[in-house]
Formats: sequence, structure tokens, C-alpha cells
Amino acid sequence: MPKPILLSVDDDSDVLRAIERDLRSQYGKDYRVIGSDSPVGALELLKQLKVRNDSVALLLADQRMPNMDGVGFLQAATQIYPEAKRALLTAYADTTAAISAINQANINYFFMKPWDPPSEHLYPQLDDLLEDWQAAYRPAFQGIRVLGTRWSPKSYELRDFLARNHVPYQWIDVESSANDAETKRLMEALGPESGELPVVLFPDGAKLLEGTPAQVAEKVGFRTHSETTFYDLAIVGGGPAGLAAAVYGASEGLHTVIIEREAPGGQAGMSSRIENYLGFPAGLSGNDLARRAVVQAKRFGVEFLSPQEATGVRIEGPYRIMTLADGGEISCHALMIATGVQWRRLDAPGVDKLQGAGVYYGGGTTEALSCKDEIVYVIGGANSAGQAAMNFAKYAERVVILVRGSSLSSTMSQYLIDQIKETPNIQIWAHASVIEAHGDTHLEEISVQCADTNKIERVPATSMFIFIGALPRTDWLAGTVERDDRGFILTGPDAGAEGLLETSVQGVYAAGDVRAGSIKRCATAVGEGAAVVQFVHAHIAREGAEIGH
Ligand SMILES: Cc1cc2nc3c(=O)[nH]c(=O)nc-3n(C[C@H](O)[C@H](O)[C@H](O)COP(=O)(O)OP(=O)(O)OC[C@H]3O[C@@H](n4cnc5c(N)ncnc54)[C@H](O)[C@@H]3O)c2cc1C
Repeated sequence: MPKPILLSVDDDSDVLRAIERDLRSQYGKDYRVIGSDSPVGALELLKQLKVRNDSVALLLADQRMPNMDGVGFLQAATQIYPEAKRALLTAYADTTAAISAINQANINYFFMKPWDPPSEHLYPQLDDLLEDWQAAYRPAFQGIRVLGTRWSPKSYELRDFLARNHVPYQWIDVESSANDAETKRLMEALGPESGELPVVLFPDGAKLLEGTPAQVAEKVGFRTHSETTFYDLAIVGGGPAGLAAAVYGASEGLHTVIIEREAPGGQAGMSSRIENYLGFPAGLSGNDLARRAVVQAKRFGVEFLSPQEATGVRIEGPYRIMTLADGGEISCHALMIATGVQWRRLDAPGVDKLQGAGVYYGGGTTEALSCKDEIVYVIGGANSAGQAAMNFAKYAERVVILVRGSSLSSTMSQYLIDQIKETPNIQIWAHASVIEAHGDTHLEEISVQCADTNKIERVPATSMFIFIGALPRTDWLAGTVERDDRGFILTGPDAGAEGLLETSVQGVYAAGDVRAGSIKRCATAVGEGAAVVQFVHAHIAREGAEIGH
């Protein structure tokens, strides 16, 4: 935690050096002592410190300075750091001005030059001021801060990225906290840059204007490029199947890399509560499961390239070569594809335009708190929709689940149906389909087609979370790996392969939701991922024998 700051300002460099020396010798252990020879420069510096979220305990300024006197400086500095103690350094001739400044400009104290000995004329008074400051001092947040607006898709994308990658951050909604004094001061300190939202502020003082997840990833040190270009096992997709294969592969000595496009955890990472995963009787959040798996994989030496996307694959003799979105390539003995499925889009006017601004695909755990006391619409009747509804019900005034059928019974697990029945602020709207989303800058209303009455109802809505099934995105494998007509990867006998999880290409495997015929569950994805490793060992041994190793 950086120490709070004592800032002294004096255009006379000898006096400045002397005051800095005295401050440092007495307070250097607990405070950072900074000096500036210009009041204008010091105000600029204070703005930078504000953006970095540094704390300033004391402002000490000489009264007689060109361009701006000490009182003027302290008054201006109060706009940036109102809680800092303010003191003036004056010559005897300025005593009257100093006394009136105390009254008019809210200055806490004035010191006469010279202040020798400081033990008598400086420290006792400063001790008093600093003790007073310490009593009200609350250490500032020392992590990443994201400034943006609730309805900005770019802000949402960033927050979702940070949350899913377990990077702690503080969210400052500059619209809803526009009247908050500290937000105002921060925006003023940022100046014109405050218009380039979302702004990401890092503890080292760096900032990203209109920042993107890829830029944040680079800044926080995520690896997107590989250390080497050859691996025993390369895994595309960091969901449960990919993570399980990585843990088992690396723990059994395979040099293993995972390439993940968004955040390790996959769909499971978006689940607010998985209740049917073996060994967790009270359930656990998908985020927690993902975090634990990532730690475990890293412990065994698995490399993560994330965010990074696989965009193509080709086979050259015994090597499987993967191309990546940044143009790089990775080759490996064995490749496992565990890219799961992605949400199906809701094809209705207005939906695409408002995505990230009230319309969301998937869990929306980032958004749950923002929906406090609002009405939330959840579209879909499967388990993922049920879990999300249960999560939103903790914050929202009411959650409405829209289903096309007559009830949830055919699409949702009974345990979730029972939980929903017992939650008074969840309501089911059956025979209902969203046919349009309305709003200019964010979602304001939805039009719902009611199949039972044949009417269209238009209702106010600020948040709509869509869970209407999912499909694989495997176009990048076209021409190499055989898939069914919906894009799921064929394995085993369906692909003419020997191993159950092997694809139409030797040494290329598929596991989890992306595999045709798989059971779409966390535990089965984990099981398949773990099982692939056995086939990989056999494949490497066979190839080694063939190429004479
Ligand atoms: C909200 C929700 C709740 C759920 N709740 C439960 C539950 O309670 N119990 C249960 O058993 N199951 C549940 N499921 C289902 C379960 O999460 C999935 O079956 C499981 O996550 C599938 O794992 P997977 O590894 O096959 O794929 P995924 O989890 O889909 O992971 C695939 C990963 O691959 C990445 N990827 C895709 N393409 C590329 C590419 N080209 N390059 C790099 N990376 C790529 C994706 O970003 C993703 O992270 C839930 C699903 C959702 C969405």
C-alpha cells in the first residue's frame, strides 16, 4: 500500500529543499514527501495523484510565489483533495494575510519562516494536523478501476472480461454516481480524457482510454503468445473439458498448452451455481470451479494463452499445426478441441443493436447487482435460465422467465423448478416469445408474442438475459476435421476413428459440448477431457515408434 503524501510547494529552491529535508527526517517512515517549485505544476501533479488514487495528507505552500500565491494554490488544491490538511509558509511581513487566509480560505495553520528549530516550530503543529487527518483517513482502493456507464456495451465487455478472468477491479458508473463528490473530482482530474470511456486506471498510474479486453490483458500480464512453439498436447478451449485434459495431461508429464478465446471456465464459468457437480453438496459457482481448476492446472505447469483464439488447423506429417488469431502458430503431437458451444442469437429486431446495453447473452453475473430493485426478463426454459433467474431474484424486484412452451417441466431439472416455485419474486410467463427489443441507447421495452392469446404485449424492460440454446462455432475446422450438419465434431466410429474421442484426423481429439452426441454437463465434459489424455499417450507412443524415436 503506497504511503500517503506530504506535498510542499515553494518557488525558492533553498527553502523547498529545507522543508523537504525536515519533513522527510520526521515523517519519511509513514509518508512520502514530495516537493514542487511551481504552484501550477503542483496542481497538475495533484490531478495525476488523484487519477492514481493516491492519498494526500498535507499541502504546505509558501505564500509568496509568482503567478499564484500560496492561498490561491491551497484553495485550488482543495477542489482536488478536500480532505488534505492545508498549511501556509509565510514571512513575518505576511502574517496579517495569513491570518485572514485562515478565516477565508479554510487553511488549517500557518508557519513562520524560518521554522528553526523544527522540533519547536514545525513538528508539534504538523503532528497535530496529521493525527487529525489520520483519524478520518480511509485507505483508497489500490487495484484496477474501471470508469464507464452502465449501458455502454464496451464498459460491459470490459467488466465481464475482468470478472470472468478473476481480476479484481472497482467499477465506477460515472452516470449513476455523477453527483458523488469523489467521482466529480476524479472526472475533473482526468480532464478531456474523461470523455473517452471506458477508462481503465491501473495502480501504477497507467490508464487506458476506451480500453479493450485485449489491451487490459496485455497490461495485467496475461500471456497471449507461447513460450515455445511445440507442445505434446495443445488444447483449444479452457472450459471444464479443456481444463480437465490439461490437469491430467500436465500431471502425467505432457508439455501442455491451453488456448482460450475469452476466459478459462467456459460456459461453466458463467454459471451462478452448479448444484450437481460431484463432491460439492452445497453447490459452487462456476467462477469458483474455474478459478480452482486454473490454479490446479498452473501448478502442474500448464501454459495458458488467453485471450487467444485458434483460427485454423493443418496437418504436416506427425505434426498438428494450429494458427492463432494474432497470426502465430503452434504445433503439437496431439490436439484436443474443447471449444464447447456458444449462445444462439435471438433473431428479433432491436436485439443486436442493444446487446451489452440491456440485452445480454448468458449468465450476466456482472450485471446482477446493477439490476437491484428492477424487473429482469430471462428468456429460455433450460437449466441455465433457471440458475440465472435464481441468481437475479436475490437482487431484482421481480424476475420474469419467458418460455415458449406451457411450463418449465420438459426443459429444466426438477430441483431448479422446485427452487423457482419457492421463490416469490420469480414469475413464469408461458407461451411467450420476444419478437422485438426497443430503446435508443439502452433497452427500454420488449414486445412479446403470446401464443395462447395471439396478442402482442409491449412491456417496459431494462434488462433481458437470453438463454435460448447454444451451438458450436467450428467453422475454423472446415476441410480438416469432420463435423455434423450443425457443426458438432464427429468422433469415434462416426468419424471412422479408432479411439472413442478421436476425430476424423489421427491425433486430433474432441471432448465436451463440442463433440457430437456428448451429454452437455460439466461432469461429462471433465470426464471426457480426462479420458482424452489416455489416447494422447498412446498416440504419442505410436508416432514415436513410427518416426523411429
Ligand atoms: C449458465 C449455465 C449454467 C450451467 N449449469 C450447469 C450445471 O449446473 N451443471 C452442469 O453439469 N452443467 C451446467 N452447464 C453446462 C456446462 O457448463 C457445460 O456442459 C460445460 O461447460 C461444457 O464444457 P466444455 O469444456 O465442453 O465447453 P465450454 O464450457 O463451452 O468451454 C469452451 C471454451 O472454449 C473457448 N473457445 C471456443 N472457441 C475457441 C477458439 N476458436 N479458440 C480458443 N478458445 C475457444 C470458449 O471461449 C470457452 O471458454 C451450464 C451452462 C451454462 C451456460
